Amino acid sequence: MTKNARGSELVDALLGPESPLVSQGFTFRQSQLDLAHALRNSLEDGGTSLFEAETGIGKSIAYLVVLAATNRRCVIATSTKLLQKQLLREISLLQEFGVELSFSQLNGVSNYPCLRTESGSISATYCETFDCSEAASCFYMEDRRKAQSSQVVIVNHALLLSALRTNQFENYFGKVDAILFDEAHNLLSSRNTDSTANLTRNFSVFLELADRDALLSKEQRNALLKVHSRFIQGLDRGELKAELLRFDDKLVSRFWQSQKRNSFDISALGKMLSKEVASSIFVSGTLRSYDGFESFSELLGLTVQTDYIADTVHDYGSQAYLYLPQNIEDNLDNLSSVIGELHELCGKGLVLFSSYNRLDGVSKRLSPYIDLIAQEPDQSGLASEFFDLDNTVLLATGSFWNGADLGDDLGFVLVDRLPFLPPDERDFLDFQLPLAVLKLRQGLGRLIRSERSFGVLCVFDSRLLKRSYGQSFLSVLPKDLPRTSSFEQIRKFVEA
Ligand code: SF4
Repeated sequence: MTKNARGSELVDALLGPESPLVSQGFTFRQSQLDLAHALRNSLEDGGTSLFEAETGIGKSIAYLVVLAATNRRCVIATSTKLLQKQLLREISLLQEFGVELSFSQLNGVSNYPCLRTESGSISATYCETFDCSEAASCFYMEDRRKAQSSQVVIVNHALLLSALRTNQFENYFGKVDAILFDEAHNLLSSRNTDSTANLTRNFSVFLELADRDALLSKEQRNALLKVHSRFIQGLDRGELKAELLRFDDKLVSRFWQSQKRNSFDISALGKMLSKEVASSIFVSGTLRSYDGFESFSELLGLTVQTDYIADTVHDYGSQAYLYLPQNIEDNLDNLSSVIGELHELCGKGLVLFSSYNRLDGVSKRLSPYIDLIAQEPDQSGLASEFFDLDNTVLLATGSFWNGADLGDDLGFVLVDRLPFLPPDERDFLDFQLPLAVLKLRQGLGRLIRSERSFGVLCVFDSRLLKRSYGQSFLSVLPKDLPRTSSFEQIRKFVEA
């Protein structure tokens, strides 16, 4: 395929039913092809566009093909390393089929060894210029140079937000036509911050100062370290705030207040993007709340030209059932027995918790009876361990609501409580409710990932049916998803 064949024809050639990719085992999906054309139109028209396309459509390969076809320079930002690896694989595959698409990947400076320090480690503030005598052979500088010239640059959300906030975007990437945020729903947890890396650095400085002046007890210090490691694993800012304020300690509160003062308001993102590029594109499996795309665009300060919902590739009517147990008191014994019943009926499952305390309580009750993995605050590598196991239940929280790849063979997903953030200064209707609706959609989306997926979605929170706001949650679930409060009905569905 040459440059002359770029454009609409190239999209059709690579994603249509006659695509050479199909002969290599890829499935042709009309919804993927339609999505690609919508992306192409939005790149050609410019402005800000939102694209919601559920897992299984193949959205990343669709936008890579479109970037190649339209010959646009683009910075692609993801929030997980998993997606970055997938993008690198997909670009290599496209190149094998003759698609011309140069690419590079840039990480934050603290991920690179520094040639000027003996240990090879580098402080994030140490290397800011190209004046260094080692710059010619430095890996970090090499990646910075590539990021100036390749057609596609892959970064994480934190690096891109930091470059925008500090007016360093062009220094990092040169002239760029478009910025594309994938996993864009995770930008909402970046609100009021510039990056996780910055908060992490500030946290370390705070601990150092507290140590120097012996301001914290050993127990307090260890507890703070645990909170911090959970933050790195995916605790969002609201949850972090609640954890820190639980210390009820003047020093810790002061630290939190200073973070708020230095924070960056994500609602300024729209303005920053329009200064740098002609097109800003947001892609995710779940961007809509009960009010459509409105909450997402308002919270990020976006003026949206196009929004698009890709056609579903799943048959929810036959692949899933929503189970809403009613008239069961919300305590850990009852929650544990519902999980036990679902596990016996459906096998492998994921339970998403709203707090570690509840996770821990259920783990203690169920671990003598069933195979389970309980997420611990500073545990990593859990997703890949769980991926290969059969008939096991994963008790998790934090990033597991939307991040890690757990495969497509879960038999059930249970959400213990509607995922409201801890009380905040912001409005329930303007802020808390839309985010909780979005998060529940993400949690439930962990079940149906492909044609092979089949199972039960359970929300163990009777407020979904009893409170008036429950309708806001139910209104955004797939229309053809059947629901019941009867476990017997669930049994019939699974055993049919
Ligand atoms: S440019 Fe120099 S200071 Fe910066 S990371 Fe490379 S070797 Fe270290």
